[in-house]
Amino acid sequence: MALVVQKYGGSSVADAECVKRVAQRIVATKQAGNDVVVVVSAMGDTTDELIDLAQEVSPLPPARELDMLLTAGERISMAVLAMAIANLGHEAKSFTGSQAGVITDSFHGKAKIIDVTPGRLRSALEGGSICIVAGFQGVSQDTKDITTLGRGGSDTTAVALAAALNADVCEIYTDVDGVFTADPRIVPAAQQIPKISYEEMLELAASGAKILHLRCVEYARRYNIPIHVRSSFSQKEGTWVVASTEGTEVEHAIISGVAHDRSQAKLTVVGVPDKVGEAAAIFRLVAEAEINLDMVVQNVSAASTGKTDISFTLPATDGQSALAALNKAQEEIGFESLRFDDRIGKISLVGAGMRAHPGVSATLFGALADAGVNIEMISTSEIRISVIVDQDDVDTAVHAVHRAFDLDADQVEAVVYGGTGR
Ligand code: ADP
Ligand code: ASP
Ligand code: MG
Repeated sequence: MALVVQKYGGSSVADAECVKRVAQRIVATKQAGNDVVVVVSAMGDTTDELIDLAQEVSPLPPARELDMLLTAGERISMAVLAMAIANLGHEAKSFTGSQAGVITDSFHGKAKIIDVTPGRLRSALEGGSICIVAGFQGVSQDTKDITTLGRGGSDTTAVALAAALNADVCEIYTDVDGVFTADPRIVPAAQQIPKISYEEMLELAASGAKILHLRCVEYARRYNIPIHVRSSFSQKEGTWVVASTEGTEVEHAIISGVAHDRSQAKLTVVGVPDKVGEAAAIFRLVAEAEINLDMVVQNVSAASTGKTDISFTLPATDGQSALAALNKAQEEIGFESLRFDDRIGKISLVGAGMRAHPGVSATLFGALADAGVNIEMISTSEIRISVIVDQDDVDTAVHAVHRAFDLDADQVEAVVYGGTGR
């Protein structure tokens, strides 16, 4: 008997009809002779609606209470799904993240899983039940408060449970048929990727391809859990995310895909004295505020003033905390002012074959220039090139880059089955 972990995203359980369809799929998996653990997200855009609600009563809600509120979304879907399965004559038990043994650190809104103790799930499985677990949440080891794993975190719950339960496979059900060469909502001519390495998927996820949560891919790589990303609206084979096998890179396409991210912002510290220790002081403050930076650029200082500007990108949602932390230290650091721009977008080109192929950046920059897109910042890794552009240019840039690397399909095959793209 195999143990299958399945995760259903918000659009797969958006309403009662969707929940009933998903319940049938789960029961079919059970009837095929598998033990089944299901991780479920909040219905439709519930999480966004709860965030809007919180913001209506408080512009900066206390992080503990925000987590308490948001986890309610997943509790609704887990209970409703368990009911739909019971209605099909099968036993299903729902569990919160805490009941399922998802233990985290205490950083609200971006907690990391530090242990998984799924004793209650094991007993329920032994008793013949299907287990339904609320995604995206856990309980802090130290404070015992309820935490969330960050937006899109249900994917990570699924892989963490798959690892802890030694599952045979982790299936991520969503509203597209798998991982594509670009977001099919922007590029209908994007092509489905049948198989992708953890390494490339990590870069895509880190670059904003929200099809999989970044930490879910890190977890899967660490524990070597194969992930099958597929649609809950079709029976098609999806995309397998697996370890890259030796030698396959040679046959690999040079580029695996183009990712975009509209959730970043750019903060510029203007007029920083050009002397030893200044950058260290700035980034220490940002790190103390638990903010993850992405790109960093320091301009050449103007000889006349001896001052320079330092710009970095960060999640837009962390903007206010970063500004507050830096403003408090203005005198000590001695910078002139801060500039904040959340109207930016990041475009990234990812491909393991880049290592061996010079000229990729030239083609990328050429494509953006031809499309009239101005580049504000650039960063690279061994298998990725990212650029920051104006947010209004994101769609144009993604199309241009996708076409320039011959990724457009001859015939449009990408289907978006549901979801609002919010
Ligand atoms: P779920 O609610 O099922 O977790 P998400 O909205 O988090 O779904 O992720 C699925 C969405 O990811 C798709 O609808 C698609 O718009 C988007 N997406 C972004 N990049 C890609 C990509 N490279 N391949 C497929 N989908 C992508
Ligand atoms: N419901 C959460 C979100 O919208 C978690 C998830 O869907 O993975 O971010
Ligand atoms: Mg998701």
